[in-house]
Formats: sequence, structure tokens, C-alpha cells
Amino acid sequence: MAMEKLVITVATTGSLPKKKNNPHVPITPSEIIETGVRCEAAGASIIHVHVRNLEDESASTDYRLFEEVYDGLKSRTNLIIQISTGGRAGMAYEQRCERLKLKPEMASLTTGSVNFPNNVYINSPELIEKLAADMQKYGVKPEMEIFDVSMINNALALTNKNLAKPPLHFDFVLGLKGAIPATVENLVHLKNSIPPDSTWTTTGIGAAQLVMNTHAILMGGHTRVGLEDCIYYRRGELATNERMVERIVRLSKEFGREVATPDEAREILHLPASSA
Ligand code: ZN
Repeated sequence: MAMEKLVITVATTGSLPKKKNNPHVPITPSEIIETGVRCEAAGASIIHVHVRNLEDESASTDYRLFEEVYDGLKSRTNLIIQISTGGRAGMAYEQRCERLKLKPEMASLTTGSVNFPNNVYINSPELIEKLAADMQKYGVKPEMEIFDVSMINNALALTNKNLAKPPLHFDFVLGLKGAIPATVENLVHLKNSIPPDSTWTTTGIGAAQLVMNTHAILMGGHTRVGLEDCIYYRRGELATNERMVERIVRLSKEFGREVATPDEAREILHLPASSA
């Protein structure tokens, strides 16, 4: 039986890696937009967007930067734009909700708190519900960011309160210190813990990226690659975002699984049809 086509998300920038870690990390709006163009050509259908302050490359909550990246990607690509509502740049709701006014097709929603190596990534029940309500208001599909099994329950609780509409889409984040370890047993357990009509993608942190992605391709899930999660292509060799996308495309095709275009990804993820 042929498997559903593979949806590839590229997380190009994130909050942490800087040019000194990997010169290919896109930082400025134009670098992020150009990277998006190249990754779409390589086979990505979703771009997960963070922005950075230009002075010091730190994570930014500046609405104008999000708007510039959003407008550029919208005019230059057919990619599904998924804006991060992550909190490394600023933890408060007010700092994390404004960007949803751009009405991107998707946004990330982390449904619980996590111990990062040096701080606590706080997502209180109140904040999660407020962000979910905003996403509904603006017609944004949430990608539930799942750092641990309990966060699946928190995501499902949103549907009971009519703050999210099934079928849900999940992203399993494995291999981050302080969160669920990147093992195939954990990935299978996560997959078996979501409603059967859900869609899911897999993010592996560091060296776990390629391993978790490969399992996800074979298990019928989807994949996220990019420098946000891993700056190396292989040990000792720095990656570019587009090379990571190209590798997943090659692997998937070798396994007999075709790769989705952005419009095919919209269908798979139950997004409104592209107007592009
Ligand atoms: Zn992110």
C-alpha cells in the first residue's frame, strides 16, 4: 500500500544558533526569505518561522520583523507559513500573541512547560488557552508542540473546550535535554497516544534529527528538518537548511514515499485550499 506523501517542514532559524555557530543560519528577513525560496525548491512545504534582532542575532518578538518575513515568503513562495509562538524571545502572552494577527496558515503551540538546560520554558494552562483562542480567532491551525507525553493530553483538553478543532496536528520533539528522549520506543508511544485521525510530524534535536526523521518516514508520519534543531549535516560538517531538506527528499524517495508539494500538504493537514 502506498503511503501518504511526506510533508517536510524546515525550521531554518530558531532562537539559538548564531552565525558564529554556523554561518548558514539565516538571520535577517531577506536571508530567511531567500532560504525559504531555496528550501521550497528542494522539497519543503512548510517553513517554521522565528525572527532575530539584527544587532546581536538574539531571538526577537518584533512584529515588524515577523511581518517582513511573512510578506516576503508569501510573495516569493507557496510555502505554508508556520509562525512560532515559542517563548525564548519573551515569555509573556503579550509578547507571543501579536504575530498571530498576520493570520499565517499555521502557528506552533506548546502545550506544557519544559525544563530547558538553563531555564524553564513556561507555558501555563492560561497562556496555552489564550494562544489557542487567538489562533481560532485568526483562522490559524495550531501545530501542537509535544515535548513529553503529558502534553498530548493538554492538547486534547483544548478540543474539549472548543479551543482547537480536530483533526489535530502534532509535532513530537524528541531528544531535547529535559524532555522526552529520542528513542524509537518513545516515538511509537507518542504516535499511539494521539487520536487516529491526527497528523503528526517529528523533530529530533541534534544528532537525533536524521534518526527520528527516518523512523517517521517509515512509520507514515511527517518530518521537520533545519538548523533550528541541528546545525550539523553529519559529525564535524556544518549543514545548510536546503541540504537537510534535499537529504530527506532522497531518503523518502528511496523508501518509495513521494514528497508533498505545499498544496498537497494543505490537503493532508486539512488546511483551507491555497489561494495562491
Ligand atoms: Zn521553533
